[in-house]
Amino acid sequence: MQEKALNSPGFEIDPDLVITLTHGDPIMFEPFWKEEGQNATVTISGWEKMSYYACDPDDICWFLEPDFANEVLRLHRIVNNAATNGCHIIPGAGSTQLIHATLHALASIEARRHPVNVVSAAPYYSMYSDINSLKSALYHWAGDAATFKGDDNFIEIVCSPNNPDGMIRHAVLSNNAGRRVHDMAYYWPHYTPMRGPADHDIMLFTMSKATGHAGTRIGWALVKDTDVAREMVNYITLNTNGVSRDSQVRAARILKVISDGYEFPNSNGAGQFFHIGRHLLADRWRRLRQAMEVLAKFSLPRFSTEFCEFFKEHAQTYPGFAWLRSEDESINDCGDFFKGINVQIRNGRLFGAGPNYVRISLMGSDAYFDGFIKRITSVG
Ligand code: PMP
Repeated sequence: MQEKALNSPGFEIDPDLVITLTHGDPIMFEPFWKEEGQNATVTISGWEKMSYYACDPDDICWFLEPDFANEVLRLHRIVNNAATNGCHIIPGAGSTQLIHATLHALASIEARRHPVNVVSAAPYYSMYSDINSLKSALYHWAGDAATFKGDDNFIEIVCSPNNPDGMIRHAVLSNNAGRRVHDMAYYWPHYTPMRGPADHDIMLFTMSKATGHAGTRIGWALVKDTDVAREMVNYITLNTNGVSRDSQVRAARILKVISDGYEFPNSNGAGQFFHIGRHLLADRWRRLRQAMEVLAKFSLPRFSTEFCEFFKEHAQTYPGFAWLRSEDESINDCGDFFKGINVQIRNGRLFGAGPNYVRISLMGSDAYFDGFIKRITSVG
Protein backbone atom coordinates (compact mmCIF):
# COMPACT_ATOMS: atom_id res chain seq x y z
CA MET A 1 0.00 0.00 0.00
CA GLN A 2 2.58 2.43 1.20
CA GLU A 3 4.97 1.51 -1.60
CA LYS A 4 2.25 2.31 -4.14
CA ALA A 5 1.73 5.68 -2.52
CA LEU A 6 5.43 6.40 -2.85
CA ASN A 7 5.17 6.00 -6.59
CA SER A 8 2.27 8.38 -6.87
CA PRO A 9 2.96 11.75 -8.48
CA GLY A 10 2.06 13.62 -5.28
CA PHE A 11 4.63 11.74 -3.22
CA GLU A 12 7.02 14.68 -2.72
CA ILE A 13 4.38 16.65 -0.88
CA ASP A 14 3.58 13.80 1.50
CA PRO A 15 6.67 13.59 3.71
CA ASP A 16 4.76 11.54 6.31
CA LEU A 17 5.13 8.31 4.36
CA VAL A 18 7.79 6.17 6.00
CA ILE A 19 10.44 4.73 3.67
CA THR A 20 11.95 1.51 4.96
CA LEU A 21 15.55 0.78 4.02
CA THR A 22 16.45 -1.33 7.03
CA HIS A 23 16.52 -4.87 5.68
CA GLY A 24 18.54 -6.35 2.89
CA ASP A 25 15.37 -7.72 1.32
CA PRO A 26 16.46 -8.34 -2.28
CA ILE A 27 13.26 -7.36 -4.11
CA MET A 28 15.21 -5.39 -6.72
CA PHE A 29 15.94 -8.60 -8.68
CA GLU A 30 12.23 -9.40 -9.12
CA PRO A 31 11.98 -7.99 -12.69
CA PHE A 32 14.64 -10.42 -13.91
CA TRP A 33 12.77 -13.41 -12.50
CA LYS A 34 9.44 -12.15 -13.86
CA GLU A 35 11.02 -12.00 -17.28
CA GLU A 36 12.20 -15.61 -16.92
CA GLY A 37 8.59 -16.76 -16.45
CA GLN A 38 8.15 -20.52 -16.94
CA ASN A 39 11.88 -21.00 -17.32
CA ALA A 40 12.34 -20.38 -13.61
CA THR A 41 9.11 -22.00 -12.43
CA VAL A 42 9.00 -25.37 -10.68
CA THR A 43 6.09 -27.70 -10.13
CA ILE A 44 6.22 -30.28 -7.35
CA SER A 45 3.46 -32.90 -7.40
CA GLY A 46 1.64 -33.85 -4.22
CA TRP A 47 3.35 -37.23 -4.08
CA GLU A 48 6.89 -35.94 -4.55
CA LYS A 49 9.51 -35.13 -1.91
CA MET A 50 7.52 -36.71 0.89
CA SER A 51 10.35 -38.53 2.61
CA TYR A 52 12.64 -36.84 5.12
CA TYR A 53 15.56 -38.24 3.13
CA ALA A 54 16.83 -36.52 0.00
CA CYS A 55 19.53 -39.09 -0.68
CA ASP A 56 21.02 -42.16 0.95
CA PRO A 57 20.22 -42.01 4.70
CA ASP A 58 23.83 -43.03 5.35
CA ASP A 59 25.26 -40.06 3.44
CA ILE A 60 26.88 -37.48 5.70
CA CYS A 61 24.32 -34.91 4.61
CA TRP A 62 21.19 -37.03 4.24
CA PHE A 63 18.95 -34.02 3.49
CA LEU A 64 20.97 -32.66 0.54
CA GLU A 65 19.01 -32.79 -2.74
CA PRO A 66 21.39 -34.13 -5.42
CA ASP A 67 20.09 -31.65 -8.06
CA PHE A 68 20.68 -28.76 -5.72
CA ALA A 69 24.23 -29.96 -5.00
CA ASN A 70 24.92 -30.29 -8.74
CA GLU A 71 23.63 -26.80 -9.53
CA VAL A 72 25.66 -25.30 -6.68
CA LEU A 73 28.82 -26.89 -8.04
CA ARG A 74 27.95 -25.90 -11.60
CA LEU A 75 27.40 -22.24 -10.73
CA HIS A 76 30.60 -22.05 -8.68
CA ARG A 77 32.44 -23.57 -11.64
CA ILE A 78 30.99 -21.00 -14.08
CA VAL A 79 31.57 -18.01 -11.81
CA ASN A 80 34.85 -19.42 -10.45
CA ASN A 81 34.27 -17.74 -7.07
CA ALA A 82 34.94 -20.71 -4.76
CA ALA A 83 37.21 -23.75 -4.72
CA THR A 84 34.77 -26.62 -4.22
CA ASN A 85 37.10 -29.60 -4.69
CA GLY A 86 36.70 -32.09 -1.88
CA CYS A 87 34.18 -29.89 -0.05
CA HIS A 88 31.04 -31.15 1.62
CA ILE A 89 27.97 -29.17 0.60
CA ILE A 90 25.54 -28.56 3.44
CA PRO A 91 22.28 -26.75 2.77
CA GLY A 92 20.67 -24.71 5.52
CA ALA A 93 17.56 -22.63 6.14
CA GLY A 94 19.39 -19.58 4.84
CA SER A 95 22.96 -18.91 5.82
CA THR A 96 21.52 -17.73 9.14
CA GLN A 97 21.02 -21.35 10.18
CA LEU A 98 24.42 -22.26 8.74
CA ILE A 99 26.17 -19.61 10.83
CA HIS A 100 24.72 -21.19 13.97
CA ALA A 101 25.50 -24.71 12.72
CA THR A 102 29.10 -23.69 12.03
CA LEU A 103 29.66 -22.03 15.39
CA HIS A 104 28.09 -25.02 17.12
CA ALA A 105 30.27 -27.47 15.20
CA LEU A 106 33.55 -25.61 15.66
CA ALA A 107 32.88 -24.93 19.33
CA SER A 108 31.85 -28.56 19.99
CA ILE A 109 34.76 -30.18 18.24
CA GLU A 110 37.71 -27.89 18.57
CA ALA A 111 37.32 -25.55 21.49
CA ARG A 112 39.76 -25.58 24.36
CA ARG A 113 37.19 -24.11 26.73
CA HIS A 114 33.58 -23.03 26.61
CA PRO A 115 32.18 -20.62 25.77
CA VAL A 116 34.38 -19.88 22.76
CA ASN A 117 34.75 -16.21 21.82
CA VAL A 118 33.11 -15.33 18.52
CA VAL A 119 34.51 -12.17 16.94
CA SER A 120 34.33 -10.23 13.69
CA ALA A 121 36.01 -7.00 12.65
CA ALA A 122 33.82 -3.89 12.96
CA PRO A 123 31.78 -2.79 11.20
CA TYR A 124 30.31 -6.30 11.28
CA TYR A 125 27.00 -7.77 10.12
CA SER A 126 24.64 -6.97 12.99
CA MET A 127 23.28 -10.52 13.17
CA TYR A 128 26.61 -11.88 14.42
CA SER A 129 26.32 -9.87 17.60
CA ASP A 130 22.81 -11.25 18.17
CA ILE A 131 24.02 -14.82 18.73
CA ASN A 132 23.96 -14.37 22.50
CA SER A 133 20.16 -14.30 22.43
CA LEU A 134 20.27 -18.06 21.81
CA LYS A 135 22.22 -18.53 25.05
CA SER A 136 24.46 -21.29 23.76
CA ALA A 137 26.76 -22.66 26.43
CA LEU A 138 29.33 -23.40 23.71
CA TYR A 139 30.07 -19.95 22.29
CA HIS A 140 29.32 -16.29 22.85
CA TRP A 141 29.75 -13.01 21.03
CA ALA A 142 32.97 -11.25 22.05
CA GLY A 143 32.84 -8.21 19.76
CA ASP A 144 35.23 -6.52 17.36
CA ALA A 145 38.00 -8.87 16.19
CA ALA A 146 40.38 -5.92 15.77
CA THR A 147 40.34 -5.16 19.51
CA PHE A 148 40.04 -8.76 20.76
CA LYS A 149 42.52 -9.30 23.59
CA GLY A 150 41.81 -12.94 24.40
CA ASP A 151 43.94 -16.00 23.71
CA ASP A 152 43.51 -18.57 20.94
CA ASN A 153 40.05 -19.67 22.07
CA PHE A 154 38.16 -17.82 19.34
CA ILE A 155 36.23 -18.16 16.11
CA GLU A 156 36.56 -15.22 13.73
CA ILE A 157 33.77 -14.62 11.24
CA VAL A 158 35.17 -12.99 8.11
CA CYS A 159 32.50 -11.45 5.93
CA SER A 160 33.81 -10.64 2.45
CA PRO A 161 32.60 -8.54 0.73
CA ASN A 162 31.56 -7.12 4.04
CA ASN A 163 28.06 -6.27 5.18
CA PRO A 164 27.64 -3.31 5.89
CA ASP A 165 30.47 -1.52 4.04
CA GLY A 166 31.10 -3.69 0.93
CA MET A 167 34.85 -3.96 1.55
CA ILE A 168 36.91 -7.05 0.74
CA ARG A 169 37.99 -8.51 4.06
CA HIS A 170 40.66 -10.88 5.34
CA ALA A 171 40.97 -12.39 8.80
CA VAL A 172 42.42 -9.86 11.24
CA LEU A 173 43.48 -12.34 13.94
CA SER A 174 46.68 -14.06 12.90
CA ASN A 175 46.73 -16.67 15.69
CA ASN A 176 46.53 -19.96 13.80
CA ALA A 177 45.00 -21.84 16.69
CA GLY A 178 41.71 -19.95 16.37
CA ARG A 179 39.16 -20.94 13.73
CA ARG A 180 37.68 -18.92 10.88
CA VAL A 181 34.33 -18.93 9.13
CA HIS A 182 34.07 -17.10 5.80
CA ASP A 183 30.67 -15.57 5.15
CA MET A 184 30.73 -15.11 1.36
CA ALA A 185 27.09 -14.06 0.89
CA TYR A 186 28.09 -11.17 -1.42
CA TYR A 187 30.98 -12.74 -3.34
CA TRP A 188 29.10 -12.71 -6.64
CA PRO A 189 29.82 -10.69 -9.80
CA HIS A 190 26.86 -8.31 -9.58
CA TYR A 191 28.21 -6.89 -6.30
CA THR A 192 31.97 -7.03 -6.63
CA PRO A 193 34.72 -7.91 -9.13
CA MET A 194 35.60 -11.62 -9.03
CA ARG A 195 39.21 -12.02 -7.93
CA GLY A 196 39.45 -15.77 -8.44
CA PRO A 197 38.16 -18.69 -6.40
CA ALA A 198 38.01 -18.20 -2.64
CA ASP A 199 39.55 -21.17 -0.88
CA HIS A 200 38.76 -21.40 2.83
CA ASP A 201 37.90 -24.21 5.24
CA ILE A 202 34.30 -23.09 5.72
CA MET A 203 32.53 -20.82 3.22
CA LEU A 204 28.89 -19.77 3.48
CA PHE A 205 26.68 -18.69 0.56
CA THR A 206 22.99 -17.91 0.32
CA MET A 207 20.24 -17.72 -2.27
CA SER A 208 19.07 -14.49 -0.56
CA LYS A 209 21.98 -12.53 -1.96
CA ALA A 210 23.20 -14.67 -4.85
CA THR A 211 19.88 -14.70 -6.72
CA GLY A 212 17.52 -12.60 -4.59
CA HIS A 213 15.45 -15.56 -3.29
CA ALA A 214 15.48 -14.72 0.40
CA GLY A 215 12.04 -16.26 0.94
CA THR A 216 13.18 -19.67 -0.30
CA ARG A 217 15.34 -19.80 2.84
CA ILE A 218 18.20 -21.75 1.34
CA GLY A 219 21.89 -21.21 1.86
CA TRP A 220 24.81 -23.59 1.52
CA ALA A 221 28.08 -24.21 3.27
CA LEU A 222 31.21 -25.54 1.57
CA VAL A 223 33.14 -27.39 4.26
CA LYS A 224 36.50 -29.09 3.89
CA ASP A 225 36.75 -30.97 7.18
CA THR A 226 34.54 -34.06 7.40
CA ASP A 227 34.19 -33.93 11.21
CA VAL A 228 33.06 -30.31 11.06
CA ALA A 229 30.60 -31.15 8.26
CA ARG A 230 29.22 -34.06 10.33
CA GLU A 231 28.71 -31.85 13.36
CA MET A 232 27.01 -29.14 11.29
CA VAL A 233 24.64 -31.77 9.92
CA ASN A 234 24.07 -32.97 13.46
CA TYR A 235 23.10 -29.43 14.51
CA ILE A 236 20.65 -29.09 11.60
CA THR A 237 19.22 -32.52 12.38
CA LEU A 238 18.57 -31.49 15.99
CA ASN A 239 17.36 -28.03 15.01
CA THR A 240 15.04 -28.63 12.03
CA ASN A 241 15.53 -32.33 11.20
CA GLY A 242 16.73 -31.55 7.69
CA VAL A 243 16.21 -28.68 5.27
CA SER A 244 13.11 -28.25 3.09
CA ARG A 245 13.49 -30.47 0.04
CA ASP A 246 10.88 -28.40 -1.82
CA SER A 247 12.96 -25.28 -1.29
CA GLN A 248 16.10 -27.02 -2.49
CA VAL A 249 14.29 -28.05 -5.68
CA ARG A 250 13.26 -24.47 -6.30
CA ALA A 251 16.75 -23.21 -5.50
CA ALA A 252 18.26 -25.76 -7.92
CA ARG A 253 15.99 -24.50 -10.68
CA ILE A 254 16.86 -20.86 -10.03
CA LEU A 255 20.59 -21.62 -10.03
CA LYS A 256 20.15 -23.64 -13.23
CA VAL A 257 18.52 -20.68 -15.00
CA ILE A 258 21.51 -18.50 -14.12
CA SER A 259 24.03 -21.11 -15.25
CA ASP A 260 22.09 -21.81 -18.47
CA GLY A 261 22.14 -18.09 -19.21
CA TYR A 262 25.93 -18.27 -19.36
CA GLU A 263 26.55 -21.78 -20.68
CA PHE A 264 23.91 -21.66 -23.40
CA PRO A 265 23.39 -17.96 -24.06
CA ASN A 266 20.17 -17.18 -25.93
CA SER A 267 19.36 -20.81 -26.73
CA ASN A 268 16.41 -21.08 -24.36
CA GLY A 269 15.91 -17.40 -23.74
CA ALA A 270 17.60 -17.41 -20.31
CA GLY A 271 18.87 -13.94 -19.46
CA GLN A 272 22.27 -13.25 -17.94
CA PHE A 273 21.50 -12.60 -14.31
CA PHE A 274 24.82 -11.16 -13.15
CA HIS A 275 24.95 -8.70 -16.06
CA ILE A 276 21.44 -7.48 -15.35
CA GLY A 277 21.95 -7.48 -11.57
CA ARG A 278 25.11 -5.43 -11.94
CA HIS A 279 23.35 -3.00 -14.25
CA LEU A 280 20.50 -2.48 -11.73
CA LEU A 281 22.91 -1.98 -8.83
CA ALA A 282 25.14 0.35 -10.86
CA ASP A 283 22.12 2.51 -11.65
CA ARG A 284 21.12 2.70 -7.98
CA TRP A 285 24.64 3.61 -6.91
CA ARG A 286 24.85 6.33 -9.56
CA ARG A 287 21.59 7.89 -8.39
CA LEU A 288 22.53 7.51 -4.73
CA ARG A 289 25.91 9.23 -5.22
CA GLN A 290 24.22 12.09 -7.10
CA ALA A 291 21.58 12.55 -4.40
CA MET A 292 24.18 12.44 -1.61
CA GLU A 293 26.18 15.12 -3.36
CA VAL A 294 23.11 17.36 -3.41
CA LEU A 295 22.42 16.64 0.28
CA ALA A 296 26.08 17.32 1.15
CA LYS A 297 25.87 15.83 4.66
CA PHE A 298 27.20 12.28 4.28
CA SER A 299 30.04 10.51 2.55
CA LEU A 300 29.85 7.14 0.83
CA PRO A 301 32.63 4.53 0.59
CA ARG A 302 34.83 4.74 -2.50
CA PHE A 303 35.91 1.53 -4.21
CA SER A 304 38.78 1.13 -6.60
CA THR A 305 38.08 -0.47 -9.96
CA GLU A 306 39.46 -4.01 -10.20
CA PHE A 307 39.79 -6.56 -12.95
CA CYS A 308 36.81 -8.93 -12.75
CA GLU A 309 37.70 -12.42 -13.86
CA PHE A 310 34.05 -13.15 -14.56
CA PHE A 311 33.19 -10.14 -16.74
CA LYS A 312 36.75 -10.13 -18.13
CA GLU A 313 37.05 -6.38 -17.73
CA HIS A 314 37.77 -3.78 -15.09
CA ALA A 315 34.68 -3.49 -12.95
CA GLN A 316 33.31 -1.37 -10.13
CA THR A 317 31.99 -2.54 -6.75
CA TYR A 318 28.25 -2.08 -6.16
CA PRO A 319 27.36 -3.40 -2.69
CA GLY A 320 23.79 -4.18 -1.74
CA PHE A 321 24.10 -1.72 1.14
CA ALA A 322 25.38 1.82 1.39
CA TRP A 323 27.42 2.62 4.49
CA LEU A 324 27.01 6.34 5.10
CA ARG A 325 29.23 8.44 7.33
CA SER A 326 28.13 11.82 8.61
CA GLU A 327 30.32 14.70 7.44
CA ASP A 328 28.12 17.36 9.04
CA GLU A 329 29.12 18.40 12.55
CA SER A 330 25.55 19.35 13.39
CA ILE A 331 24.49 15.70 12.98
CA ASN A 332 25.52 13.76 16.09
CA ASP A 333 23.30 10.80 15.44
CA CYS A 334 22.59 9.91 11.82
CA GLY A 335 19.70 7.76 12.96
CA ASP A 336 17.93 10.88 14.27
CA PHE A 337 18.52 12.68 11.00
CA PHE A 338 16.89 9.94 8.94
CA LYS A 339 14.10 9.52 11.47
CA GLY A 340 13.43 13.23 11.02
CA ILE A 341 12.81 12.72 7.31
CA ASN A 342 10.82 9.49 7.84
CA VAL A 343 13.41 7.10 6.48
CA GLN A 344 14.05 3.92 8.46
CA ILE A 345 17.68 2.83 8.37
CA ARG A 346 20.03 0.79 10.58
CA ASN A 347 22.14 2.76 12.98
CA GLY A 348 25.93 2.30 12.87
CA ARG A 349 25.92 1.19 16.52
CA LEU A 350 24.31 -2.12 15.56
CA PHE A 351 27.37 -2.90 13.46
CA GLY A 352 29.91 -2.03 16.15
CA ALA A 353 30.50 1.45 14.70
CA GLY A 354 29.47 4.88 15.98
CA PRO A 355 26.17 6.76 15.59
CA ASN A 356 27.88 8.83 12.89
CA TYR A 357 27.35 5.85 10.56
CA VAL A 358 24.19 4.34 9.11
CA ARG A 359 23.48 1.48 6.75
CA ILE A 360 20.82 1.77 4.11
CA SER A 361 19.67 -1.09 1.95
CA LEU A 362 19.83 -0.61 -1.81
CA MET A 363 18.20 -3.95 -2.58
CA GLY A 364 14.57 -3.08 -1.89
CA SER A 365 11.74 -2.26 -4.26
CA ASP A 366 11.93 0.49 -6.89
CA ALA A 367 9.16 2.30 -5.02
CA TYR A 368 11.18 2.62 -1.81
CA PHE A 369 14.42 3.40 -3.57
CA ASP A 370 12.87 6.02 -5.86
CA GLY A 371 11.01 7.52 -2.90
CA PHE A 372 14.25 7.70 -0.94
CA ILE A 373 16.11 9.49 -3.73
CA LYS A 374 13.27 11.96 -4.17
CA ARG A 375 13.14 12.69 -0.47
CA ILE A 376 16.90 13.13 -0.11
CA THR A 377 16.97 15.43 -3.11
CA SER A 378 14.11 17.54 -1.77
CA VAL A 379 15.81 17.89 1.66
CA GLY A 380 19.11 18.88 0.07
N1 PMP B 1 25.39 -13.22 6.01
C1 PMP B 1 25.33 -11.97 5.58
C2 PMP B 1 26.59 -11.20 5.45
C3 PMP B 1 24.10 -11.37 5.28
O1 PMP B 1 24.06 -10.10 4.88
C4 PMP B 1 22.92 -12.13 5.44
C5 PMP B 1 21.57 -11.54 5.13
N2 PMP B 1 21.39 -10.22 5.40
C6 PMP B 1 23.04 -13.43 5.90
C7 PMP B 1 24.28 -13.96 6.17
C8 PMP B 1 21.83 -14.30 6.14
O2 PMP B 1 21.17 -14.58 4.99
P1 PMP B 1 20.03 -15.68 4.86
O3 PMP B 1 19.74 -16.24 6.21
O4 PMP B 1 18.87 -14.99 4.25
O5 PMP B 1 20.60 -16.70 3.96
